[in-house]
Amino acid sequence: MSKLYRAINKNETIRFFIINSTEIIEEMRRTHNTSTTATAALGRLTTMAAIMGSDIKNEKEKIILKVKGDGPSGMLISEINSKGNIKSYIQNLQVDIPSIVENNKLDVGSFVGKNGALAVIHDFGFGEPYTGQTSLVSGEIAEDFANYFYQSDQLPTVVTLGVLVDTDYSVKSAGGIFIQALPGYTDEDIDILEKCINNLPPVSSLFNKYESPEEILKIFFKEMEVEILEIEDRIYKCDCNRDRIEKALLSIGEEEINKIIEEDHQIELTCSYCNKKYNFTEEEIKDLLEKARI
Ligand SMILES: [Zn+2]
Repeated sequence: MSKLYRAINKNETIRFFIINSTEIIEEMRRTHNTSTTATAALGRLTTMAAIMGSDIKNEKEKIILKVKGDGPSGMLISEINSKGNIKSYIQNLQVDIPSIVENNKLDVGSFVGKNGALAVIHDFGFGEPYTGQTSLVSGEIAEDFANYFYQSDQLPTVVTLGVLVDTDYSVKSAGGIFIQALPGYTDEDIDILEKCINNLPPVSSLFNKYESPEEILKIFFKEMEVEILEIEDRIYKCDCNRDRIEKALLSIGEEEINKIIEEDHQIELTCSYCNKKYNFTEEEIKDLLEKARI
């Protein structure tokens, strides 16, 4: 479990979200057995979902983030529900690319690709979901989301996301900070914020050194006199169940299903978010088809 901190400066003109997401990103990596760069890319998106989950107000709501560039990673998806449960998916999880040599930095930008789009889907549990979409800026995820928020909210926004992967491929540290000016902010507020940000180390090493978001706010944003308003739990956990998988199975279509039964006399479906396997016998499938026809 990781904890998302919501905070505000003393003037109430700048809001902060900060999370040490090491635990949920390591759980994500263990679930998918991702390559190093895939861990970094999907870890950043998953951390962003952990932050954006704070927009969820009602039980049936969920927020889905999709990033699709022209790089080898293919599509990346991260979804959060009202319980703070997050699940993520990457199309090409085993693919890796070389790091940028001069600073040994994982090259997430090339991995995701900068030609493409990101989409934010807010599903309210009823009616049409709200979808916002912007072009990618760099494929580095944080910059892409900063641009998304700037365009959608028209307010100065800072997004910084980082994942530090250890030599044994496990996640050494991960975290994210989202800072946004609120209507009524002053130039002075922004000047102070910029000064604080300029002193901020890269976020992946930041969370390696300072584990507690509280400490980071105190040390690096001291001048802003930030107050913590709320702390929310975030868990990496898939919400799939047999009911949902049955629906996915039926969506293949009766003709296709019958073809598979004829050949294999059973169907095995794997949840692409958690890799859990669901088996259906010939009899069970025939029952399902029967019920679907009614
Ligand atoms: Zn699942």
